[in-house]
Amino acid sequence: MTTARRTLPLLTPRQIAGLKPGLADVIEYRKSGLSLNHIVGCPLDCGYCVRHLFDNFDMKVPRALMTDHEAVEQLVNHPYFRPHITPIQLFNRATDPMLANVKPHTFNVLGHLDGQGLTNHVLVITRWRVNAEDCAILNSFRNIKLTILVTHSGIDDERIEPVDSAIAAESLRTLHQNADRYRTVLYWRPIVPGLNDSDSHVQRARELSEHAHATVFTGLFFRNEIAAYYQAHGLPMPYPDTARRKILPELAERRILDAFHRPEATDAPWGELFRKTSCAVAYAHGEPDYNGHYGIRELCTICPAGQLELCASTWKAPSAAEATDAARALGAVGDIEVTERAIMVEGLDEPPRYYLQHGFGYQVHDRAKPHHYRRHGRADIGWPTQEIPTP
Ligand code: SF4
Repeated sequence: MTTARRTLPLLTPRQIAGLKPGLADVIEYRKSGLSLNHIVGCPLDCGYCVRHLFDNFDMKVPRALMTDHEAVEQLVNHPYFRPHITPIQLFNRATDPMLANVKPHTFNVLGHLDGQGLTNHVLVITRWRVNAEDCAILNSFRNIKLTILVTHSGIDDERIEPVDSAIAAESLRTLHQNADRYRTVLYWRPIVPGLNDSDSHVQRARELSEHAHATVFTGLFFRNEIAAYYQAHGLPMPYPDTARRKILPELAERRILDAFHRPEATDAPWGELFRKTSCAVAYAHGEPDYNGHYGIRELCTICPAGQLELCASTWKAPSAAEATDAARALGAVGDIEVTERAIMVEGLDEPPRYYLQHGFGYQVHDRAKPHHYRRHGRADIGWPTQEIPTP
């Protein structure tokens, strides 16, 4: 089903030329999927928004860089796009896909993808209002594996997050109640110690998780641009330092795991709780994780037993020759090694690494940016300074 409702005005070529190059480039390969972002601008004003990184935070009214049709064409003809394999993310960088004036585009793009018979995962992340009528449209797609992730932080400091978290909570319930063909995930983030990790915050998330097919918890991206915004607006600094990766201190993780733990539920002692977005999405659709996190075994310690078995049965290391040929074809230099956790490469940026990772269903790591045991893909902030050796 597509919609012919109101569409947003297009930015002029001159306006597009004035955007930061990263923002004008509407396709970006991220870990959870190839991300399409041809609408930019958002009025929701979350202080930690990644739009700070693109100098776009002041653009409150969403605008389109191209038509939905053109955007979908770019996506499916992207050199890293593989039909039925590459996970897709929609409007996860510069707007909210369920804003009233963005929603028609969201449905339209989903309709275009579905109409092509594509069965790829499609992830839509929102914190805004979703009603029963929206759910009917989301249920109407026949081919794509659609997941609506609802961002809920519980942050009640309006200077940091002016949008009431109750809106997201209500959307989650509505989505869960009406889910037929799509799945819904509680995207509990960003968790910041001292701000939204009190016992009552954790308990609230625990209750909300009952209204989702899976829950993923994660920390805060705290980059220099976001820190500068906090400083300029006199906001309490969440961390003394910034970091390239998301920050989730060990203590916060432990408190969350303790609160979710139900030892009597032997098949799923932590319920449907996941550390990684792709794990939650895959689980919600009854599939193994498409990022190959099973190789990072300490991530799987909280996973339901049935899901562990599923991932174990499909996870397979590529041969050294397969991995080498594929990585070299993308420009990798130096030694290419296949360990029991990941393919180790050099000289590849994130997009080609994710392309390999989603193709093999096996982790691909840059040798220059090592992942540390137990804090996989997270910043070092808040973890013991003493290194725990990888077993
Ligand atoms: S078993 Fe591991 S890789 Fe698979 S979904 Fe669970 S946490 Fe993710």
